[in-house]
Amino acid sequence: LHGSAAAAGLVEDGHSPAATVLQVALALPLPSPFDYLPPAGQTINRHWIGCRVEVPFGPRRLIGMVVGVSARPPGDRRLRQALRRIDQQPLLPDELWHTLHWMADYYHAPWGEVLALAQPAGLRQGDTPESPGRWVWRRCDNADHHAVQRLRRGALPEQLWQRLEAVELDEDELDTRLEGWRGAARRLQALGLVERLRRAASSLPPPQASAGFTLNDEQQAAVDAVRARLPGAANAGFQTFLLDGITGSGKTEVYLELLAEVLASGRQAVVLVPEIALTPQTVRRFRRRLGEAVLVWHSGLAEGERRKTWARLAAAEPLVLVGTRSAVLLPLPGAALIVIDEEHDGSYKQQDGVRYSARDLALVRAQALGLPVLLGSATPCLETLAQAQRGRYQTLRLRTRAGGARPPQVEVLDVRKQTLQEGLAAPALAAIRRTLEGGGQVLVFRNRRGYAPALLCHDCGFVAQCARCDRPMTLHRAPPRLECHHCGAQARLPAACPDCQGLALQPQGIGTERLQDSLTQMFPQYPVLRIDRDSTRGKDAVERLLSESATRPSILVGTQMLAKGHDLPLLQLVVVLGVDDGLHSIDFRAPERLAQLLIQVAGRAGRAQRPGHVLLQTHHPQHPFLTGLLSGGYRQFAEQALAERQALGLPPYAHLALLRAEAQSPSAWREFLQQARDQAAAWLGQQVDASAILPAPMPKRAGYSRGQLLLSAAQRPALQALLKRWVPTLYDLPGVRKVRWSLDVDPSEL
Ligand code: ADP
Ligand code: ZN
Repeated sequence: LHGSAAAAGLVEDGHSPAATVLQVALALPLPSPFDYLPPAGQTINRHWIGCRVEVPFGPRRLIGMVVGVSARPPGDRRLRQALRRIDQQPLLPDELWHTLHWMADYYHAPWGEVLALAQPAGLRQGDTPESPGRWVWRRCDNADHHAVQRLRRGALPEQLWQRLEAVELDEDELDTRLEGWRGAARRLQALGLVERLRRAASSLPPPQASAGFTLNDEQQAAVDAVRARLPGAANAGFQTFLLDGITGSGKTEVYLELLAEVLASGRQAVVLVPEIALTPQTVRRFRRRLGEAVLVWHSGLAEGERRKTWARLAAAEPLVLVGTRSAVLLPLPGAALIVIDEEHDGSYKQQDGVRYSARDLALVRAQALGLPVLLGSATPCLETLAQAQRGRYQTLRLRTRAGGARPPQVEVLDVRKQTLQEGLAAPALAAIRRTLEGGGQVLVFRNRRGYAPALLCHDCGFVAQCARCDRPMTLHRAPPRLECHHCGAQARLPAACPDCQGLALQPQGIGTERLQDSLTQMFPQYPVLRIDRDSTRGKDAVERLLSESATRPSILVGTQMLAKGHDLPLLQLVVVLGVDDGLHSIDFRAPERLAQLLIQVAGRAGRAQRPGHVLLQTHHPQHPFLTGLLSGGYRQFAEQALAERQALGLPPYAHLALLRAEAQSPSAWREFLQQARDQAAAWLGQQVDASAILPAPMPKRAGYSRGQLLLSAAQRPALQALLKRWVPTLYDLPGVRKVRWSLDVDPSEL
């Protein structure tokens, strides 16, 4: 499939019979491109590749991209004719084109779907990209003075000539200043006196020269190391750097310093961040330092904004783009640097459609562009650490908190046999009180939104379940309802138990809403604010909530939305509830995620001058995970976890691909997966291993029964070779009609 697309993409007219057929990739979940004849009267050559065309598809008209041209296949079916060619030149820069090709190949995804990911909606629908920028007029350097002297004094051409003395003026400006200037400009142009030029969309104010403080030695060393690889440097070229720095160690300052240089040299950079909505502060900080050249990119952006940004980047304007996952697929013809902040963050992995990892793609792009790429984290993912250990990435360390702040003190709070008041142990409540009375801020972290994770009948044991997922529904109070956090289904609160008609329905367990209620009652003189997906639906809601509480003693209750981003200078105490939930997960990545989350949450405390304190409430104070993390920190945890993964043959020491299927009935996905497994059997052998066919960890979701088949291999190429032969066959298996299936290469969740 992609092999042939690849070959087609590289067809040279010289070596093959004259091309008469366009291979068009459409954004459809189908494996190969479609063949079309060119529009009437047009001849094809390889310059069509990369251009969009409009084609008939059944009764519809679709926009697709030409990914290859070929000679008419022998014994050929009747092909339809493309309706029109949209672009005269490839829409995407060469490097992006090749990266997308790599992506389709590596993730075994339809090329048309991959190409669609890299185009704003308007372009996918066939619009021509607006050319960004503005036209300006200026005097020609070698203007002929005799011609100038012949201009009639006071007439429009002469007026315009005067106005252009020593300045260039853009057309918008001329419109407001000199009526009828266009005719005059054309006249002067004909005389060879003035010229019309394209300029960047806006003239950007120069970035602020410096941070206002000097970088410490480790920060400076990090900047120097990356700078040495930037375009223009003697040693310029691709290199992956891991900026491994504890929270608050000044990683962002390192980025800013480098980004300022990139802009000053007239080039572009991308900074990937996990979530922009949560970190408007970060964007503001970038703007403060780098000025108007900072643009943002995220899913909430309006379409017009999106197109403008896309076009400005495609025109190589010097910009710094701060964006979420999909920003890695933007055109970057002038790129100098790619930064991935919080590189361990799960949001870099796309979980539907083309299941790509933005982090991995960023590396592929940096390599293709010959640039340095900088991964920053206080808790790098194990894959990254393994690469650093092998010397493939260069590690840059920031070991101290910048500006003199001290790391927080982390303590396990053993809650066995203690009376819990709304989930909080007495020592935790006492610490909260002390902190508030001392003028500090408290964060109570609980990674479950809603009032209570379940609603239980105390008389008969009934638990309200989502019929479509077979999981307890979460009780919410504001507004009152039951909600399934897996599929979004909602239900009214029953007045009585539907099973026994008893009136003993009780909330079971504790969510953020309940914590907010009870803490408000316990500490009525302090504001208690809640930050989770329910409380922050509006634009800028997080920020509003945080700024409300930032300057006075208060309690923040929140989910992992609070783990990163905002500076909370008064925050002195973090109490973490529900640590034990994470200790018992079956996913092999669960400990890694829990360690990252705990370290990140703990890192919120004591970012400024006040020392921070962290309490982890647990029933398992002796759990090796917790004792290990506390005594050795993330670094030691990671070393042990890597050793375990190696012993068990798990990533990063193995490479995985997961075939998921869901259907109305379990028999349908079993049948499909069995056929898929049989199909693979011939190619399995010693290099690649296939698991048994098993129900998914969540065997039912949104009414669908779900199963999966896991392939693993010690060597990536062996797995890829198998996938390349295997995946195209899946589309045609007899059982395929009854299932929805997807392939996940390097799955982040099993
Ligand atoms: P990180 O990104 O590693 O969490 P930041 O870059 O946000 O850390 O830095 C944490 C705080 O320390 C910020 O308020 C920042 O302005 C400040 N800071 C960073 N570097 C320095 C420095 N060299 N001297 C003084 N303050 C610094
Ligand atoms: Zn559900």
